[in-house]
Amino acid sequence: MTPRPFTGAFTQQEPIGDVAIAAAVAVMKTGRLHRYNTIPGELSQVSLLESEYAAYQQQSYCLACASGGYAMHIALLAAGMQPGEPVLTNAFTLSPVPGAIVNAGGRPVLVECTRDLVIDLDDLDAKAAQSGARFLLLSHMRGHIADMEKIGEITAVHGMTLIEDCAHTMGATWNGVKSGNFGLAGCFSTQTYKHMNSGEGGLLTSNDPDFMARAIILSGSYMLYERHGAAPEGSHFADIRLDTPNCSGRMDNLRAAILRPQLAELDNSIERWNERYRTLETALRRSALFYLPIRPDAEHYVGSSIQFLAEGISQENARDFVLANKALGVELKWFGASEPVAFTSNHHSWRYLQQQNLPETDAVQSGLFDMRIPLTFTVADCAHIADIIVHCAGPLRLKGAA
Ligand SMILES: *Cc1c(COP(=O)(O)O)cnc(C)c1O
Repeated sequence: MTPRPFTGAFTQQEPIGDVAIAAAVAVMKTGRLHRYNTIPGELSQVSLLESEYAAYQQQSYCLACASGGYAMHIALLAAGMQPGEPVLTNAFTLSPVPGAIVNAGGRPVLVECTRDLVIDLDDLDAKAAQSGARFLLLSHMRGHIADMEKIGEITAVHGMTLIEDCAHTMGATWNGVKSGNFGLAGCFSTQTYKHMNSGEGGLLTSNDPDFMARAIILSGSYMLYERHGAAPEGSHFADIRLDTPNCSGRMDNLRAAILRPQLAELDNSIERWNERYRTLETALRRSALFYLPIRPDAEHYVGSSIQFLAEGISQENARDFVLANKALGVELKWFGASEPVAFTSNHHSWRYLQQQNLPETDAVQSGLFDMRIPLTFTVADCAHIADIIVHCAGPLRLKGAA
């Protein structure tokens, strides 16, 4: 029997809460929206957010900025990347990641992805040796965390600096250590579809004072770097303030004001996401047609989206499957499409890069489906959605499946 259609909206986040709205209104009543526009003795909302996020992330320093992509861009520059240098990153990620490398003047070298949706460690090792890259911008794409001890070994052997793209792992941990704390820096996004919502926004964290001093000057702090909430001491800026360009990309007080109450709720939101994720995962695992990526015990993830593979599915079947789900109100994204759609694209459509041969990633992405889990969905909604997906998979005939 065909399940009844689902009528929820896949792009509908929860509303901004009353406390956050009141905080934003209070900022507007002062007129002091720019982060450095403070009165004597006042700490701006942005500075307060920086100190609160540094504490949450258990890092010494935090810089709030314009977007997650911008955080990655200035992280590479502050780490000392030179024009034209190769930078290793995941082939399976979203376009702002290679975009940030290109924006910083680097050359993305894409590393293969496994069917568990993490970076392929053997390919990483091989490409680190071949390319001589000094930097790995590791994208924890869709919240899947690679074996971070092994990543640490590989980066150490090749003398690579690790920068983490934590757009989908804000609040996640690996063996009890927060995602973002494994290398030089962690980059986070507060864009609407991530774990905190300020429309646009980014956070950059580190324990390295000179790196953070460079990032702060890059972000456009003029000579007001002492008005920060979680910045290194003034002595670290003595030369850096003169040697580093201003690439304006600050956060404003309005965004920070609505993020601070969300940060206080973040761990609670994570519990709610994971309850929904597990409901979907358990139901989808019952279908022999799907492979659900393994989530290792070391990984405490944030299930803000779910991915599953229909391995061996044809292009035509994949398109029909997406349409059948859509007809019943379920919006799946498919990473195997030849044309990029909305936020979803694969490396074949990043034509500003030198084309790279990635057969393993292509095989994974050709059968890879992806779905957002907004917190406006109830747990019952998630069970209903899983019923629809399994129902629509009924007519599929896949390699190796009954
Ligand atoms: C959203 C996203 C980013 C960047 O975030 P923006 O704030 O939109 O620049 C980086 N990496 C991944 C994997 C993302 O999904």
